Amino acid sequence: MSLISVVIPLYNEEGNVPELMRRISEVCERIRRGGDDYEIVAVNDGSQDGTLAALRAELRGQPRLVIIDLSRNFGHQIAATAGIENARGDAVILMDGDLQDPPELLEAFLAKWREGYDVVFATRRARKGESFFKKTSAQLFYRLIRRLTNVSIPVDTGDFRLMSRRVVDALAQSPEKRRFLRGLVAWVGFRQVGIEYDRDPRFTGETKYPFSKMLRFAIDGITSFSEIPLRFATYLGFIVSGGAFVYAIVVIILKLLGQNEPGYTSIMVALLFLGGVQLISLGIAGEYLGRIYDQVKARPLYLVSSVERAALPPATVAREPIST
Ligand code: UDP
Ligand code: MG
Repeated sequence: MSLISVVIPLYNEEGNVPELMRRISEVCERIRRGGDDYEIVAVNDGSQDGTLAALRAELRGQPRLVIIDLSRNFGHQIAATAGIENARGDAVILMDGDLQDPPELLEAFLAKWREGYDVVFATRRARKGESFFKKTSAQLFYRLIRRLTNVSIPVDTGDFRLMSRRVVDALAQSPEKRRFLRGLVAWVGFRQVGIEYDRDPRFTGETKYPFSKMLRFAIDGITSFSEIPLRFATYLGFIVSGGAFVYAIVVIILKLLGQNEPGYTSIMVALLFLGGVQLISLGIAGEYLGRIYDQVKARPLYLVSSVERAALPPATVAREPIST
């Protein structure tokens, strides 16, 4: 008999909680009748709406629900980490709380896990109810990060996935602050396999990833797994200085030939261009510096305000929750 943990980070998802719990419980009860046990680890990531109250209301009907209430909003990746670290299952499944990831896929995940895979990720065949911009930018991003890193991060794949206990333990050993989970999981290795699915539209509510957060997430992903941008800044510097050197020779020759170099325009163009290149390079270096700064501060990744369980699932040994 194994214990399956379903981990769900939730931020302002009050309208989705009842339907989410109903659908997950339905699938999980089927799994339980098959002889395994389960727990549902819901992480309330500092929601300002009634998400926590909605979760507490579910505790009465769902004794296998565990609510982890974080001290504030830490963001999706950290909330997911908090859930994973507090999950006790032999297999841990991470999914979103807006029903974009159909819980019915759990059984397909588990089937692959029983075949011996350590990671089963879900690749999006279609994404319903998402804007053209979101879809194309996401597509571009997955292909870009693939080119920039030698960790094989699967394309069109979010965080909806199953991880075996040894993968979860490996993640817990990675104290990275700015976490890009789907990259970290790929980095862990072992046997990984993907299954395809159609991503549903959000059940209710708005996306919590506006453009600014998506951009932040993309930069975190790339800087977590690639140093190519740093090298890019160096190359760009070389190219521009090379160009400037050639241009300087041209100007000197023209001067010697007695030709008047038209001053203002060329100087302004060169000045602005160089200024831009410098700022870009500084920004790229700054991104990495910021990561180092975050890491050096060594603050805890998240703080747990409370952990609530209705009952411990039978036949499982309670592990102390990790609250760092
Ligand atoms: N989420 C979270 N903390 C945040 C932002 C999002 O826990 O700061 C949760 C959110 O409630 C959802 C999941 O992360 O369960 C994915 O977010 P969302 O659906 O908004 O992202 P999208 O599917 O639009 O990329
Ligand atoms: Mg979503």
